[in-house]
Amino acid sequence: MLYGIGQFGYLVASTLFIFALHWMNTPATARKGVYAGVAATTVAVGVTWADPSVIHDLWIVLAIVAGFVVGVPLSKVPLTAVPQRTALSHAFGGAAAGLVGTAEYYLQLSEAPERLTTFRMVALIAEIILGYLTLTGSLMAAGKLQEVKWVPQRPVTYPLQHVTNLLLLGLALALAAAVTIHPTAPWAPLVFSVIIGLALLFGVLLIIPIGGADMPTVIAILNSYAGLSAVAMGFVFDNKLLITAGALDGSSGLILAIIMCKAMNRSFANVLFGAFGQVKPSKAVGEGKVYKSETIEGAAQVLDQASFVVIIPGYGMAVAQAQHKVRELYDQLKKRGITVKFAIHPVAGRMPGHMNVLLAEADIPYTDLMEMDDTNPDMPQVDVALVVGANDVVNPAARTDKSSPIYGMPIIDADKARSVFAIKRSKNPGFAGIDNELYFSDRTWMLFGDAKNVIGDLVKELAGGSGMH
Ligand code: NAP
Repeated sequence: MLYGIGQFGYLVASTLFIFALHWMNTPATARKGVYAGVAATTVAVGVTWADPSVIHDLWIVLAIVAGFVVGVPLSKVPLTAVPQRTALSHAFGGAAAGLVGTAEYYLQLSEAPERLTTFRMVALIAEIILGYLTLTGSLMAAGKLQEVKWVPQRPVTYPLQHVTNLLLLGLALALAAAVTIHPTAPWAPLVFSVIIGLALLFGVLLIIPIGGADMPTVIAILNSYAGLSAVAMGFVFDNKLLITAGALDGSSGLILAIIMCKAMNRSFANVLFGAFGQVKPSKAVGEGKVYKSETIEGAAQVLDQASFVVIIPGYGMAVAQAQHKVRELYDQLKKRGITVKFAIHPVAGRMPGHMNVLLAEADIPYTDLMEMDDTNPDMPQVDVALVVGANDVVNPAARTDKSSPIYGMPIIDADKARSVFAIKRSKNPGFAGIDNELYFSDRTWMLFGDAKNVIGDLVKELAGGSGMH
């Protein structure tokens, strides 16, 4: 009877997990998706806890308390730090899977060695290799994103790097095969711990050749490894919920990584082995060219006269936390009967959905958010494209310059609008480290300054002269 209730609880949790992912598809239902995910996890933990075979000793209670102590402050990090926070969560997931796998092997070895069948050993080894490499790989990724001093941001490369990594992986797999065939041999426990060491080392070596710019994509891939590790754990414990949830995690991480790669026109191999973001002698497109600056008054006047404005947010809006001021500007323009749309590039900012989350926080109606492919055909009819701290995602070099590292990346065609105002603080390049022709175009005027201040000033100017139109 209890078994039946438990299995039913797992079925409910699995269904809720699937709906949670489905509801994440659109901002309209995303909140519901989060609640469904929380409910699914609560049901899963509750049902597992109620299982009489679970040992309810003090250690488990302490582990749950420790989870809360770490988790609650982690949930309060600013939005700009969410990519590294996500990496840390994956590190914890990887550590949990790895530790459970390790405990299971050594426990069964002393208590019931006959249970270490080939099938369970294959699952155990997959669990610990994926779990431990996710642990150190995710810690490295979090360090790069947080710009921790002792973790280099730039790709670290050396001769025969990929060959060494492959040899290391080959060695781990060969040892894994030996332990799988002879799990109870006198040397097996030692070899098992060597495999753990190799997996931990492999996680570090896998990440160091990848630049900070590619970390969000790498995090999605690590997410997928953590999910696969949970699937393996599900096979070890014959737990269907772990298999389902892990498979959802693994596949959604992979799909996300593929979407990001497509949006950057990069291949998986290029992200993982391309050492993107290395210091290269730059071509300095900007040399000898001049920016045209505009005053707040001038820009406000042009905006006031416009009938179609497209706002293109980027990472700078997140840094400045300018979304609420952007909302005020949106209100000012709408009040004048101007059509205002937001053009959202899939990799604007530093994580997928970064701009959507910020704009939703400022209660901007999601019906006015447009995806890149829907905005570009309208661009020639746009009176003003207002670029708010976006750079790479509006760089026309992606369309025209074959030598550019972002060549082929789909961009928002801001340069095709009738006029462009670009807000940024300096003449520094964006994440890809390259100059942007858009800023030197005849139709572009720069509004130098922090995005929150510049937009705030624009709002004041428009509010002050609300009869301008
Ligand atoms: P970006 O190319 O990094 O440019 C951001 C711009 O914002 C910079 O030029 C910066 O110029 C400006 N800025 C920074 N702080 C500001 C502030 N307080 N006020 C005003 N401006 C400010 O950003 P993006 O156009 O959003 O492009 C995203 C990049 O990240 C792409 O290269 C993309 O491939 C990469 N990426 C994104 C993801 C993802 O999931 N979203 C994943 C992987 C890679 P100043 O310093 O002069 O102010």
